[in-house]
Amino acid sequence: MIGDQSGREHYDYLIVGAGFAGSVLAERLASQHDAKVLLIDRRPHIGGNAYDEPNEAGILYHKYGPHIFHTNSDQVVDYLSQFTEWRPYEHRVRAVVRDRLVPIPINRTTLNELFDLDLKTDEDAAAYLASRAEPVADIQTSEDVVVNAVGRELYELFFQGYTRKQWGLDPSELDKSVTSRIPTRTNTDDRYFTDSFQAMPAEGYTRMFERMLDHPNIEVRTGVDFREVRDSVDYGHLIFTGPIDEYFDHRFGKLPYRSLTFDHQTLEQERFQDTGTVNYPAPDVPYTRISEYKHLTGQQAPVTTITYEYPSAEGDPYYPIPRAENQELFKRYEALGDETEGVTFVGRLATYRYYNMDQIVGQALATFRRMDGKREPHNAD
Ligand code: FAD
Ligand code: UDP
Repeated sequence: MIGDQSGREHYDYLIVGAGFAGSVLAERLASQHDAKVLLIDRRPHIGGNAYDEPNEAGILYHKYGPHIFHTNSDQVVDYLSQFTEWRPYEHRVRAVVRDRLVPIPINRTTLNELFDLDLKTDEDAAAYLASRAEPVADIQTSEDVVVNAVGRELYELFFQGYTRKQWGLDPSELDKSVTSRIPTRTNTDDRYFTDSFQAMPAEGYTRMFERMLDHPNIEVRTGVDFREVRDSVDYGHLIFTGPIDEYFDHRFGKLPYRSLTFDHQTLEQERFQDTGTVNYPAPDVPYTRISEYKHLTGQQAPVTTITYEYPSAEGDPYYPIPRAENQELFKRYEALGDETEGVTFVGRLATYRYYNMDQIVGQALATFRRMDGKREPHNAD
């Protein structure tokens, strides 16, 4: 081991956060650059928000809510496939609207079931939606996107209540990118995603992370906050995947992140609901959705585990909140980050981007390519 004068071990990289961003970079730097990496996480486990584990009943569940892997990137699939086999899985979601359980994204079936219609073709559905849509000339907000596509009634039934709960904001106060995640369809495709690759890691996310980090150059310490080690660990370069405003002690003010409380329940029944997730857009229901893991994992068992998601302002930061004023504040932190020598910010919290897992893997791989061959000078004591 290389040590400094005080005998401390030297790491080429200290990586903060063992989620996708931190773990992909740890793996790449260790295996491709032969770099010595110390990877820390303040949680008692690796995997970040994608962490899964078997509960007391033996059901594999996701501690931070349901994570469904989907991507159009061959590069990301090829990369992750080094560490896992896959179980094909296409996610389907229903929404409880007017006491009916109908497909979301809104598709032809949704319209037929909700309004007792008999739309037979894509053209029928397109014409029906066109008759309800309220065109918005300049689409800016998450309200504009939906009202423009399906009109106000469907907007209120499916999006307004859900969004107000999820974000604590009206869709009119959120960037259009938020509800743009959910398409409107005129066919009967009821899959939540249409990406070319949709599958779950066969033995779960945590197992995949374990394989990724199983390298002699990587030391993992969980239950350790950056603050505890920032002055005592000898490292060359820092990769930070936590909230960027926290790194800079909130000097420009707090960046808003939305949180959730998860209520995990194990029920003495084989199945709870017919699809992986059921959404509850009604304003008088306090949770946004219920997910049942056995659909995602294919696990067979006489009992089942479900998770209710209750949005909240307080708690772990899960979602950056996409709106102009937050982006402006983030830009100030980003500029500060760019000026700060020896630190790279990557990941959903550090780059304040509402990214899915595959996008974070792509971001981390791109960050690695930019680091290619570059060895930072070691920090002085
Ligand atoms: P994270 O996974 O958040 O990892 C960051 C890690 O850094 C955390 O473990 C944290 O503890 C650690 N950390 C932060 N600060 C410090 C510090 N100071 N010291 C030490 N450690 C620190 N994506 C999909 O593709 N499909 C889905 O179905 C999906 N569902 C989701 C459902 C929910 C409820 C949520 C919240 C997200 C979902 N996502 C989904 C998004 C996915 O979770 C993220 O894209 C991905 O996990 C981001 O990885 P990351 O490494 O950037 O961040
Ligand atoms: N959304 C909604 N109703 C729904 C599903 C989604 O209003 O039935 C909106 C809501 O604002 C949500 C956003 O679309 O936050 C993105 O939904 P997604 O399912 O992608 O959210 P995530 O899985 O990231 O929490």
